Amino acid sequence: MFIGHTAVALLGKRAAPRTSLGVLLAAATLLDLAWPIFLLLGWERVAIDPGNTAFTPLDFVSYPISHSLLTVLGWSVAAAIVYHAIGRYGYGAWTVGVLVLSHWVLDWITHRPDLPLWPGGPRVGLGMWHSVPLTLAVELLIFAVGLAVYLGTTRPRDRTGRWAFWGLMAFYAVVYAANVFSPPPADTRSIAWVTLSMWLLPLWAWWADRHREVTPQVAETAYGAVDRPAVA
Ligand SMILES: [Zn+2]
Repeated sequence: MFIGHTAVALLGKRAAPRTSLGVLLAAATLLDLAWPIFLLLGWERVAIDPGNTAFTPLDFVSYPISHSLLTVLGWSVAAAIVYHAIGRYGYGAWTVGVLVLSHWVLDWITHRPDLPLWPGGPRVGLGMWHSVPLTLAVELLIFAVGLAVYLGTTRPRDRTGRWAFWGLMAFYAVVYAANVFSPPPADTRSIAWVTLSMWLLPLWAWWADRHREVTPQVAETAYGAVDRPAVA
């Protein structure tokens, strides 16, 4: 899943309005941000196997550190603790933890049974990726919901707040389409390097989010948002 994780980050803004979309996006994609590093270190492995599922040519041979349920629970708790230590914002810390864990749940729905419950343990996955139409329908639907919720939670403070945000959304649309229609990657090293460039996306989201503000309606009702500045 790609824009599905982004959608969940957008939804997270409603749960923790004082937390930056950049932090929420980093949390929702933390496992995929760590994965290319583990690939380059040789700790995890991927192979190219067109037809593996209809949606992706990637065969996730081994990724016990970034994508086993047990280690993901650890990443989730660690991310929540670190965020709470920095931000002192309970709703934000809970949201960050849930977003990290949500990644595994969404991957479990989409991947074929290649996600280990613990390193070396049984592998699970419901395999939605076997159907391209179903994958597109589900991902685009939750993305539309996430976008609507984020737009209902924040409004641009200035032009940057409008265009940096819509630029990011357009970028996702282009990358997603390219992902669906492009031929399989040439080699596994280039997969790692291309995935590593995803580190720029939370930074972009953080920049756009800094130029937006929580709408007055949400600020009145949202958890911990009243009259208090953004955390990070
Ligand atoms: Zn993943």
